[in-house]
Amino acid sequence: MDWDKLLNEATHYLQEYIRINTVNPPGNEIEGATFFKKIFDAEAIPCQILEPSPGRGSILATLKGNGSKRPLLLLSHIDVVPVEAEKWEVPPFEGVIKDGYMYGRGTLDCKSLGIIEMMALLILKRENISLKRDIVFFATADEETGGRWGVGWAMENIPSLKEAEYAFNEGGHIILNESGSPDSYAISSGQKVIFQLKLKTKGTPGHGSMPHPDNPNVKLIRGLEALTRWETPYHILPMVKEYFNKMAPKQPLYERPLFEDIEKGLSDSTFSTWLTSNPIYNSMLRSTISLTILQGGTKVNVIPSESSASIDCRLVPGTNKETFLNEVKKRVGDEIEVEIIAESDSLPPSPLDTDLYQAIKKSAAGNDPECPVAPFLLPGATDSRFLREKGIITYDFCPFRLTEKELMKVHAHNERIDLENIKFGTKMLVEIIKEVAT
Ligand SMILES: [Zn+2]
Repeated sequence: MDWDKLLNEATHYLQEYIRINTVNPPGNEIEGATFFKKIFDAEAIPCQILEPSPGRGSILATLKGNGSKRPLLLLSHIDVVPVEAEKWEVPPFEGVIKDGYMYGRGTLDCKSLGIIEMMALLILKRENISLKRDIVFFATADEETGGRWGVGWAMENIPSLKEAEYAFNEGGHIILNESGSPDSYAISSGQKVIFQLKLKTKGTPGHGSMPHPDNPNVKLIRGLEALTRWETPYHILPMVKEYFNKMAPKQPLYERPLFEDIEKGLSDSTFSTWLTSNPIYNSMLRSTISLTILQGGTKVNVIPSESSASIDCRLVPGTNKETFLNEVKKRVGDEIEVEIIAESDSLPPSPLDTDLYQAIKKSAAGNDPECPVAPFLLPGATDSRFLREKGIITYDFCPFRLTEKELMKVHAHNERIDLENIKFGTKMLVEIIKEVAT
């Protein structure tokens, strides 16, 4: 393989892909799907565009295996989030290359993943590798606004997708420390459960000059005070235990035993206070509650008749929703009505004792022998939930080497990717696919 030549090719494709504006809403992903179709057609890789609603295109391309193993899906999404173009240093839809980086909306989330997945198919096809399983490229619409026109639709309407054994998707990366050396191969094998609530309370309207106890705003903030002070219990999944255990060698000496057995570690109150002050660690260890919207009153001298709040709860998979809801109700008190406004299924994380996970570990050890491969629980939600719902073992892992600072550019201004990542990512992906499919 001439990797430098392949990098040039991939860079050129990524640039073209970034130049297609797929900001969702409206998405207009069909143009992204058509872009891929031209490439797959030229390489004689069979593909199919799906367009369940005008403009909302996704594409499936399949490299056939002999069927002795079930398919591997390579998932990515075509849509991107909006930009505030005037706040960028470079135009966000031109794929500007500067100092080894390509800038543009989607360079991290997640057009670059789409490109390396496509490159993997092209390489396997050009090398004429005989495969035991189908490798299915799947770039989809609508991830950024819930997936209804993308993976959600496809999983209900394209029966062959459900045959997949494995899938790769966005979410995890190779995390670099401040000095640029790899800290962990972070593979998300599960995600928190969405459980969003609306709290409403009614009261007696009146003049602001004459306060009275039946003011709904006051009742609401008292309830919210009690709720947001709730330190939800720790709920530690085996994969989370494994995560902290794998990260132990990276910690200062005195903290290592606490990481090695995180359940025991958390019983040390100084340690648990320190650990849970990190929002990422905290989110893996327990169900969380964020107060995100407050509404009440429209005029300074009027006591309103009702007020409301929206709460974004993210539960550890396996949490009993009813028990959690009852606890919320108990804390906010009788005068506040609690309603569920959105929820996702409580899906168990994908298992780690698979040949795909072994293949990731093997490839990681080849690249960075000292670096742990650590499964983590994703606090947010990705399209992977539609796959896990159908029993497909899904790992959110995009083999790019990124610092936490670089990761913060996802959805932010000046999103960019180090072009070396395109080469490294393609190489690693091809290596993993060969390991599980040949
Ligand atoms: Zn994304």
